[in-house]
Amino acid sequence: MKYYRKRRRWIALALVLILLAFAAGRAEVARNSKNADSGSLLLEEAESMPGQPESENPSCQPESEEPGQEAGQAGNGGAESGQPETVGPETQPAQDYIKWVDFNVSSEALALAYDMDVDTYGTDSHIDWISLLACTAARYGGEFGSQALVDLENTAQRLRSGQSALEEEAEGLSSYAYYKEAYEAVLGGMVGEFLLQEKDEEGNVVWRRKYGLKAFSPIAAAFPYSDSDDFGAARSYGYARPHLGHDMLGQIGTPVIAVESGYVEALGWNQYGGWRIGIRSFDHKRYYYYAHLRQNYPYAEGLEEGSVVTAGDVIGYMGHTGYSSEENVNNIKTVHLHWGLELIFDESQKESDNEIWIDCYQLSRFLSGNRSAVEKVGDTREWRRVYGMEDPAAEDAREQTEQSSTEGASWKG
Ligand SMILES: [Zn+2]
Repeated sequence: MKYYRKRRRWIALALVLILLAFAAGRAEVARNSKNADSGSLLLEEAESMPGQPESENPSCQPESEEPGQEAGQAGNGGAESGQPETVGPETQPAQDYIKWVDFNVSSEALALAYDMDVDTYGTDSHIDWISLLACTAARYGGEFGSQALVDLENTAQRLRSGQSALEEEAEGLSSYAYYKEAYEAVLGGMVGEFLLQEKDEEGNVVWRRKYGLKAFSPIAAAFPYSDSDDFGAARSYGYARPHLGHDMLGQIGTPVIAVESGYVEALGWNQYGGWRIGIRSFDHKRYYYYAHLRQNYPYAEGLEEGSVVTAGDVIGYMGHTGYSSEENVNNIKTVHLHWGLELIFDESQKESDNEIWIDCYQLSRFLSGNRSAVEKVGDTREWRRVYGMEDPAAEDAREQTEQSSTEGASWKG
C-alpha cells in the first residue's frame, strides 16, 4: 500500500515537472515568434494574400535558395499577426535599414511613370519615375488601384507644367521616404543612359546613345513562354514554404537573359534551384536568382562567379533541374525559369531568416516590352545577343575587374 502511495506521489511529481517544462517551452516559442518579425511576415503575407490562385501547375514547385528555407521555417514558427506596416515607414528608426517591402506597383503604374520620366528627360522639369511612384504609394498605402493611377497622372501633370515641385508633392507624406528608398532598391538600376546597337535605314548596325529602359525580360525575344501571378503560392519540396519568385514556363534551351547588369555572385548547383545563377546589382541592393537551368548545358559559355554581365546578355538556358541534392538531375516536372528578386538593404539580410523576396510578376509584365533579340552561334547549343549594349555601370565594373585582377585581388570586395 505504502509502496503504491509512494509511486503515485512520484507520478504526480513527474506530471508537475512535465507540465512545467511544457509551459516553459510555450513561453520560449512565444518569445521566438515575437522575435521572428519579418520572417513570420513572410509567411503570413504569403498565406493571406487575397485572390492568390492555386498554382496552375502543381508539379511545378520551385524553391528558393537554402536561406529561403530558414525564412520559411521562421515563418512556420512565428504566430504573430504580421502587418507589414509595423516594420514599415512609421516605426522605422531613421538610422535603421528597411526590413520589409511589399512591391505592389502594377505594370500599368510602372509604364505610366516610366513614360513620364523618359518624356521629360533633359528638360527643366524632369520627372524621376521612382519619386513619382513613391509619391503615389505614400498617398495610397503602396497599392496601385485605379484611383492611385489617376492621382499618379495628375501629379505628373502638375510636375510637368511647373505647377508644383516634387518636394511640395511629397510634403507631409510621412511614408514617402520609405517608399522612395524601397522602390529605389527595386528599380534603381533599370532606367538610365546607355549605348545600344541598332540597324539604321540602310540596315547597317550602328551604336546609338539612349536614355530609357536598360533592363530586359528574362526570356529572350521570339521564344514563347507563359506565366501567371504565382508569388506566394504554397511549395512543399523539403519543407512547407511560400513561392518566393516568379515562374516563366517555356521550352528547354530557351535563352535566359540578364534582367539587369551586375556581377555573378553564385553559379552552380543548389538542391532547390538546380543549376542556378545569382547576379548582384552593382549597387548591391538586388540579387537576381535564375533557377532550374538546363541539364548538362546550363550556362552561357565562359560565365563564372565574378563575371560581369550586361543587361540583355544571354546567361543560361531554361530547363527543369532541381529538387535534388544530387547534381544535374531533372526533378522539376515542368520546364520553366524561376526568377527571384531579393532586396538587400543591409548585408546581414542576404542569407538570413529575414530575407526580402519581392513579387516580380508585375515587373515581368512591364519588362515583357523589352526582350533581348538573340541568334544561334554556329553549330553549337549556344545563343548570343544580336545587338550590343554598353551600360556605363557594367563598363566601370569591367574596368575595376581588370584592374583588380592585375593587382591579384578579388573583385568582390
Ligand atoms: Zn518558381
